[in-house]
Amino acid sequence: MILLAFPIGNPCETSWKVICMKLLSLIVPCYNEEAAAPLFYQAVTEVAQTLAHRVELEILFVDDGSKDNTLQELRTLSEQDSRVHYLSFSRNFGKEAAMYAGLEHVKGDYVAIMDVDLQDPPSLLPQMMDLIEGEGYDCVATRRVTRKGEPPIRSFFARCFYRIINKISQTEIVDGARDYRLMTRQMVDALLQLKERNRFSKGLFSWVGFRTKWLEYENVERVAGETKWSFWKLLLYSLDGIVAFSTLPLALSSVLGIILCFIGLIWVCVIVLKTLIFGDPVAGYPSLACIIIFLGGIQLFCMGILGQYLAKTYLETKGRPVYLVKEEK
Ligand code: UDP
Ligand code: MG
Repeated sequence: MILLAFPIGNPCETSWKVICMKLLSLIVPCYNEEAAAPLFYQAVTEVAQTLAHRVELEILFVDDGSKDNTLQELRTLSEQDSRVHYLSFSRNFGKEAAMYAGLEHVKGDYVAIMDVDLQDPPSLLPQMMDLIEGEGYDCVATRRVTRKGEPPIRSFFARCFYRIINKISQTEIVDGARDYRLMTRQMVDALLQLKERNRFSKGLFSWVGFRTKWLEYENVERVAGETKWSFWKLLLYSLDGIVAFSTLPLALSSVLGIILCFIGLIWVCVIVLKTLIFGDPVAGYPSLACIIIFLGGIQLFCMGILGQYLAKTYLETKGRPVYLVKEEK
């Protein structure tokens, strides 16, 4: 909340009119986005003008250890406009860390998270504000209904991921959900209570609950630069999501163990009966080798699952900070 004071009346008997304006904070993670940052600023400030009678604006760019001139661009923008602030990390900590840092630093009554590449259309902000202020929602979230412009293989794996995680997790993770959303201060404070280091925001937003309205829109191509998510990075991120929001894979090893014991028992009976009734010799080396390899594979797979959870627990217990700030304004 911001208090604005205006002098009113004639200059001899000036009285002051104080208006309480709510503050809208935008959190904008940036990694190597020197080209997109000024375009984003321009587009957002244009939309903000239409909201000027309703809210004050604050833009917090979070430079996630960029190696290009992003930080320089952000310094320039913040010198030109006092509503622009920035945080700069000591290295690249990832978009999740950037969003968390943003949530910790902004002061807004309403807080939105937006990508700097304009794939999250700023033109939706007035509608989002209407829904929160007029219809009492706590959060207005966005969802892409098309994946136009995305490589088909990436879309295929993304769809598989959403299908799997929604089957094995009790927290709903909406297919196509973006991180772009407008939230009330109450919801932001709830998110800040979740102190975990392995952050998977799409799940955390859903986990904290609150009344959420979904807005759907067609995918927009990024305005400049290129995506920072390689296929491999996305795959690891999706594993993070599964480990953070489901413990079902841990139960998988027990279930597999029970099934294999059962199969083994039946197999032994079959071999004993075949030998007793038909006098068949027990088939030797090749079948044994196949069984050993099969069981070895399953054991390693299950140990891998255990390892994933153990690694995440290890990282959490170390208690390292989610990000480190080198410079801020
Ligand atoms: N980003 C970030 N840190 C990273 C990777 C990305 O802060 O390590 C930012 C990036 O600058 C952008 C947003 O996160 O504002 C989304 O990234 P990108 O557009 O590359 O993802 P995509 O839209 O292709 O999923
Ligand atoms: Mg993008």
